[in-house]
Amino acid sequence: MPQRPIRVLLVEDNPIHARLIQRLLAEAGDPPFEWEGADRLSAALERLDQAPPQVVLLDLVLPDSQEMETFERIRAAAPDIPVVILTGVDDVRLAARIVEAGAQDYLIKTQIDSQRLSRAIHYAIELMRARSAEWDSPMLRLAQQQFLKAAQIMDLDFNLRKRLLFPDRTQVVTFPFRQDEYGQVETVFGYRVQHLLTMGPTKGGIRYHQDVSLGEVAALAMWMTWKCALMQLPFGGAKGGVRIDPTSLSRPELQRLTRRYTSEIITTIGPERDIPAPDMGTDEQVMAWIMDTYSQQMGHAVPAVVTGKPVVLGGSLGRKEATGRGLVYLVVEAAKHIGLDLEGASAVVQGFGNVGSNTARFLAQEGVRIVAVSDATTGIYNPAGLEVQALLEYVAEHRFLKGYSEGDEVSNEELLELPCDILVPAAIQNQITQHNAERIQCRIVAEGANGPTSLEADEILGQRDIFVLPDILGNAGGVTVSYFEWVQDTQNLMWSLEEINQRLHQIARGAFQRTLARAQRDQVDMRTAALIEGIERVQQAKLSRGLFP
Ligand code: NAD
Repeated sequence: MPQRPIRVLLVEDNPIHARLIQRLLAEAGDPPFEWEGADRLSAALERLDQAPPQVVLLDLVLPDSQEMETFERIRAAAPDIPVVILTGVDDVRLAARIVEAGAQDYLIKTQIDSQRLSRAIHYAIELMRARSAEWDSPMLRLAQQQFLKAAQIMDLDFNLRKRLLFPDRTQVVTFPFRQDEYGQVETVFGYRVQHLLTMGPTKGGIRYHQDVSLGEVAALAMWMTWKCALMQLPFGGAKGGVRIDPTSLSRPELQRLTRRYTSEIITTIGPERDIPAPDMGTDEQVMAWIMDTYSQQMGHAVPAVVTGKPVVLGGSLGRKEATGRGLVYLVVEAAKHIGLDLEGASAVVQGFGNVGSNTARFLAQEGVRIVAVSDATTGIYNPAGLEVQALLEYVAEHRFLKGYSEGDEVSNEELLELPCDILVPAAIQNQITQHNAERIQCRIVAEGANGPTSLEADEILGQRDIFVLPDILGNAGGVTVSYFEWVQDTQNLMWSLEEINQRLHQIARGAFQRTLARAQRDQVDMRTAALIEGIERVQQAKLSRGLFP
């Protein structure tokens, strides 16, 4: 079937360069490119006005405009059209600055071939489309850029690339909520996003946090898709969220909020449709309330509607600690791979909730010295090692780490830069960035949190030979045991803890080995390798199901 051509505006005053690019555009071909040329800024602005292209290829130095000004004037005239900068080797820094200022990509003229040119154009168009969508947010941009990077490397079909960049289904709800002590009724925002409906029911946690947004939930849902596919689970990715600070709520308030949110999304969830689980700010008790609210409406108990619920309601043994346990299974594999002896090694753990505290506990069981931990209130550092059991007891009593006296107080920023063998971000996103990646002092970054590392930081960690267990692999133990829980609920059977841990271990090790083999074979970092593994499976599923109608 013929492909619709992509319209390109080529702004280039050097006729030799212009002819070269035109030849490459003609060669690149599927879908074909149609181009118009402009040899000065004034002509380019006229073309943008009369017949807007889908992408601009822009030389920065023109007879009537120079450098940043050239880009700024094009951007001002056509804010929604993606721009790829054409630059000489000498001007790469300027081009990179212009990409930071909003251009989508740059190409070095002497290094362009038809494939690079075609990829850059497609990448720029997809990136721009993503930015103008309802879900746009820094976190979704990170998820999309990671996906596009992997898609480029694996040469993913362009139709699928466009399709997978956005969630399949999105629900935004607002609902009333009254606190215990005050008469006012607040309006609360809630979300449920299903990224992929192709591979079975959708699966993903529910987050309660004051910063939750549609874009954040969409990013988390996309990561769930790759995570489930990487672990070879029969689910698509989903995520939910409520924009509220749960630490400010009493238990009755939390219960009312949960029940109302559940009833708002009740037609979206279900054991064969979409199965929530705990995430940041939610726990077993919240899952029990969701199950109860759903079951009340159905007229009978439906344990399989959520996972991560109490064992007595059909929860799975080992689910509560599964994310931490899975992460430590992977740390053991990573340590073997890089030749690190865990006995006597040191670890720093950011976040002391479900994932962080269990990771610390299981690392300590492997002989690792936990030298620092933190939560939203403070960080505690003791190079001689912290007693994990004492920390757990302190938090059980005081809710937070603040005030724990067996170490020095450090901020969360300082904590990330402490010397250690294993650094475990297990709290929130965007913690390791270009601003601190150079100062991180560890051999393994084991990601318990979702999205803790920026794209730029990934590059820096890679250059510094720091081994990264990326989130979609590192924290996949949670969804894996959630899958076991769902299987047990739907079949009314009960596995022993030993059986669960054994199966988890087997799946985690298999995923680690596949990811490592892919990273070595394709010469890519572990994150990109894990993404490619997941995306490839989704690609096969999508192509097998075909297009409706
Ligand atoms: P949780 O609510 O149990 O704990 C979160 C912890 O992070 C708390 O100690 C909290 O005080 C701390 N925290 C919050 N904001 C912080 C900040 N700005 N700086 C430092 N610490 C901060 O949540 P959780 O379930 O442990 O989830 C933690 C991370 O792991 C999240 O990114 C979540 O998406 C991810 N995750 C969780 C699961 C799971 O099974 N619970 C599974 C996969 C991934």
